[in-house]
Amino acid sequence: MILSLNHDALVIGGGIAGSALAIQLAEAGRHCVVIEKAKTTQHKVCGEFLSPETLPLLRRAGIHPENLGAQTIHSLRIVAREMLAEITLPSKALSLTRRTLDEALLERAKQAGANILRGFTVERLLPPADEESRGLWRAKITNASHISMYISGSEAFLATGKHDLRGWQRQTNRSQNSLVALKMYFRLSPEQSAQLAGNVELIFYPGGYAGLQPVEGNAANLCALISREKLRSMGSRWDRLLEYMRLQSPHLERRLTGAESLLGRPLTLSSIPYGFSVESSFGTESPWRLGDQAAVIPSLCGDGMGIALHTARRAAELYLRGKSAAVFHDEVRHQFGRRLYFSTLLSRAIVAMPALAHITRVWPSALSDIFAATRVPGASIHTETLGMRC
Ligand SMILES: Cc1cc2nc3c(=O)[nH]c(=O)nc-3n(C[C@H](O)[C@H](O)[C@H](O)COP(=O)(O)OP(=O)(O)OC[C@H]3O[C@@H](n4cnc5c(N)ncnc54)[C@H](O)[C@@H]3O)c2cc1C
Repeated sequence: MILSLNHDALVIGGGIAGSALAIQLAEAGRHCVVIEKAKTTQHKVCGEFLSPETLPLLRRAGIHPENLGAQTIHSLRIVAREMLAEITLPSKALSLTRRTLDEALLERAKQAGANILRGFTVERLLPPADEESRGLWRAKITNASHISMYISGSEAFLATGKHDLRGWQRQTNRSQNSLVALKMYFRLSPEQSAQLAGNVELIFYPGGYAGLQPVEGNAANLCALISREKLRSMGSRWDRLLEYMRLQSPHLERRLTGAESLLGRPLTLSSIPYGFSVESSFGTESPWRLGDQAAVIPSLCGDGMGIALHTARRAAELYLRGKSAAVFHDEVRHQFGRRLYFSTLLSRAIVAMPALAHITRVWPSALSDIFAATRVPGASIHTETLGMRC
């Protein structure tokens, strides 16, 4: 690869949002580079549920998850100690491991003509007004051998997900950031695997909740959230958390009986700023913020990847029409503000009072209403299309 040091667009982070943006910019003939710190695609802390709203956005980016081994998900089950309700999704959802999906997106960006720099971390991002920048955005990038260089671009796009770049931290003080996420793959017993097939299960327990669903390779993804204090009271130990969740939910206990862990230890993530949305950037020099850098929706909505793809798409469209990052950020705040507020309120309430999940027994449409209110704009689920089974 011949690396040019000046680009139309510097895309920082080659996850969902960064790759999707690069695909669109490269297809429009823009000279862009994606800088991704991981040399090879890694497992990520994620429930890996591709909602019905996410699928068209992925297909528009040229990704067809079914061809990559994605599993079909047709129903959502709400579980506390036992199953409370089952909702048939209005159209099918899928599940696919992030390792497979992120690799496919990066590969697609490369095919579209983007330069992909893997194994380089952006250490600093200097705005055009900086005296060292000469009117361009400049990024200092370093690899594992401590080789550093600067690359520059007319615009910079921040798609670093949950990782904040030094000097460009998100203002997350009003978010729900007291939860820790832990993810493990399991091989379930054949009987439990058959019972889980086609379903995503949302399991509530005091102090948090977990998602369980099948993924490719005959595996099941258990992605759990738990309050920091509760995890601390368990000595921050995965085995004790697992024991706690199994005790709280006989349903989960049955699912995991005879199951084999597929990773040496769980992947973890803390300080997730649920409810964050990008602040106004009018009058300031700001990079364009995409994906989790723009908005973080509680995991129980299963729509973070949809938001990453949607923000990437809108950023590309507005950039190509000559609009500013501030206009884009304003749009994101307007589109997602209400959804984020509402879903974060729900997430806080359910973590504090998991018994709230029992509302689905007496008021099943509560769930469909919540889902309709938290969807990616332009692809809303209409509540009347949800078939309910309790
Ligand atoms: C517990 C949990 C469960 C979830 N479950 C779901 C779900 O089931 N369905 C769903 O749709 N969403 C889910 N999400 C949300 C989803 O994972 C995120 O919203 C989505 O990954 C955001 O995409 P992104 O591109 O913004 O960030 P990411 O996908 O995290 O990508 C960011 C990339 O930037 C790179 N990077 C970071 N810093 C630098 C740097 N300095 N230099 C270079 N590269 C850098 C990283 O290596 C990474 O590859 C979940 C999130 C959590 C926490």
